[in-house]
Amino acid sequence: MSAPLHQDSSSLYENKWVFLAHSIALEQEAADRLHELAETMEVHNNRVLYELFTELAAYSETHAADIRELARAAGQGEPLPRFKAWEYFWPDDESPEMFHYARVHYLMSVEDALLTALAVEQDAESFYRNIAKCTGNPEVETLAEQFAKEEREHVLAISNRLSIVEAAAQNASSKVLNQTDFDPPHMPE
Ligand code: ZN
Repeated sequence: MSAPLHQDSSSLYENKWVFLAHSIALEQEAADRLHELAETMEVHNNRVLYELFTELAAYSETHAADIRELARAAGQGEPLPRFKAWEYFWPDDESPEMFHYARVHYLMSVEDALLTALAVEQDAESFYRNIAKCTGNPEVETLAEQFAKEEREHVLAISNRLSIVEAAAQNASSKVLNQTDFDPPHMPE
């Protein structure tokens, strides 16, 4: 199989190789974002979220490696097409590496961090769901459904943590009338 020259929605939905290449790119970008969030939480000395985001980043990395392995096994030595950033086609016209980057900064609150991680996982889930729904290729459909299910687990893990944080925040705000921390966190050298 030769790498397609033009990326469009039909090759993403119908061509297993194109789908797998996009999936790997998406998982790697998700891992990068989650690592950034983990580092931000480390600066805040938030051990619980540092561990949660590190774990989720590891899932994305494992997933990317699994998909690469899948592609290798199915391709019988045929290399997966490699695209330049601008050659990828993303359904929402928004590549994953662009998502929510502006929100990752050192003053980010715990809730912001969780919401950003949630968006990363939700974007991944809807990417796969959309492909599972629209593809006419049963092999791609099966894979995309399986990937979407895994992302759902991550969405739920973050949602659970978010409700704990929100409940704690409500509790705290009912006790403390106006407690705002304007101290910049300690930045590592
Ligand atoms: Zn995930």
